[in-house]
Formats: sequence, structure tokens, C-alpha cells
Amino acid sequence: MNQSVDRVGEMSNPEVSQAVPRSSEAGKETCILCGSGFEPILSGLTDTRFGTLGSYEVHRCRDCGLERTWPVPSLAELKTLYEAQYNFGGETGTRYTRLRERFLMSFPYRVWMRLDGDIAFHSRGGPGRLLDVGCNEGRGLRIYTKNGFLAEGLELNERAAMQARIAGFNVYTCLLGDYKPTAPYDVAVLSNVLEHSLDPKQMLWDVHRILAINGKVWITCPSSHSWLRKIFGRSWINWHVPFHIFHFSPKTLRQLLENAGYTRSQDSFYFLHYGSGTKSDAVIV
Ligand SMILES: [Zn+2]
Repeated sequence: MNQSVDRVGEMSNPEVSQAVPRSSEAGKETCILCGSGFEPILSGLTDTRFGTLGSYEVHRCRDCGLERTWPVPSLAELKTLYEAQYNFGGETGTRYTRLRERFLMSFPYRVWMRLDGDIAFHSRGGPGRLLDVGCNEGRGLRIYTKNGFLAEGLELNERAAMQARIAGFNVYTCLLGDYKPTAPYDVAVLSNVLEHSLDPKQMLWDVHRILAINGKVWITCPSSHSWLRKIFGRSWINWHVPFHIFHFSPKTLRQLLENAGYTRSQDSFYFLHYGSGTKSDAVIV
């Protein structure tokens, strides 16, 4: 799912960013969008990527259709899991990384984006200040910079952040909620980030806080309407339990954005990707 939406005016609920802990709503059996109850739609899901132990369910809101992994891991559990499974490998200067860099900057890659769908926003041009939330070692930062943005990153993994800094980028190692930029951003990129959040509404409020008036957030995340999900069922790669906490559809993501004070921009579009990220997996709504 890929969205570009504008921040408009001041936050609709400015006290929230100060008053509500980031995981405030994660443990409740009520929907963060509409307050209704959830019902289980799938059980027995396991971590098919890393083999983490545990069995999970997916619950869906009876009213709005928002889906959520259950049980929701605690912040401490997630921290342990991320440190064990998601650590940046620090691979630099290898033949693979050199080839990857060359491909990402190449004409064939630009053609591929046109055919495949630009789920990482690599074809969008600046100018303006851009923050890549979860920038890893800075692959996206290179491309956003090449496209005319003054690109900076937020990355909790210190090793990955260091690689990006060595490449010349400003990368901050702190939680989004604690981040106080020196100047607001014109664009914030959440590429495959929001679905990992224990409290995505709070994350959007936090982004709202650091955006300039009429700044934009660009969002990519897997779609709960994926046809690949229908085909693969419980083997769908983007269940990705327990790391994917929420499973959004265009409707529920739009609702979440509206609740957080955003409005859809004229030039934006929503498109959904489904694991492989190919255009054949995508739908534009
Ligand atoms: Zn709901």
C-alpha cells in the first residue's frame, strides 16, 4: 500500500502526542479506528521468515475491517525479536552490494519501477527536506538525494545508521516520538514501517508533528486485500507474524490517516503491494 497524503494545518488532536504512550492501544481488544470489537479470522500462523517460536491469530474489527495480529507482542518482546532477527548485517563493499548499488542507480531499474510500481518512492523528485523513517544503511537516502531532496534518516540500528553516516548522510538514532528536528520536513517516508508499529495512530501523529504545513507522508505497506494473500492463505509472506502487528486495507489506512489529521493530496495515489512488490501484485484505488 502506498499513500501520499498531506498534513493540513495543525494537528487535530495536539495533546495526544504528549499524553498517550506509543503502545497505549495495542493491548486492548478494541479497534484503534472505530472502537468496536475484534473477532478472530485466522489462527495457527507462525513466523515463516525467521522461524521465531509462537503461534498467532489474526483478528478483524467487526465494523471497520481493520486487522491485527494477536496476541500483540509486548514492546520488550519485540525489542528482543528485532535484535535477534532484524539486525543490519553490516555488509558493505562486497560484490553483491556493489552490484545492488549499481542496479539501484541504473536505467533498467527506472524501467523496472515503471513496470513494477514504485513502492519505495524512488522515482519521486524533490526539492525539499525528506526524512526516511527506518532508513537502514541509507540506500533510499542515496536515491532521494539524487532526486533532489535534502534527505535525512531515522534509524534505531546503530550499525546501519553508522554506514549511512559514513556515506555522508545525517542519520538520527532515536525513536520517532522522541525526535525533535531542527526544521520541519516536507516529506516523511514510511516504507514498510507502519505495519510494524504497536501504535500506528501514534506514529502518524508523531510524523504529523515533524512535518511542515502541507508536508506529505509517503506510506508503503502490504495490503490486506492482496490477491496473493488469497492464493497463499496462511503461507502468505506478508503475514510476517509477529513483526507485522496491523494489516491494512486502503479503507482502513485512509481512515487511520484521516483520524491523525491528514488529507489526501491531489497528486497522490494509493497502491498496494503484496510481498514481491511487483505491479501485478498491486492495485490502484
Ligand atoms: Zn474498527
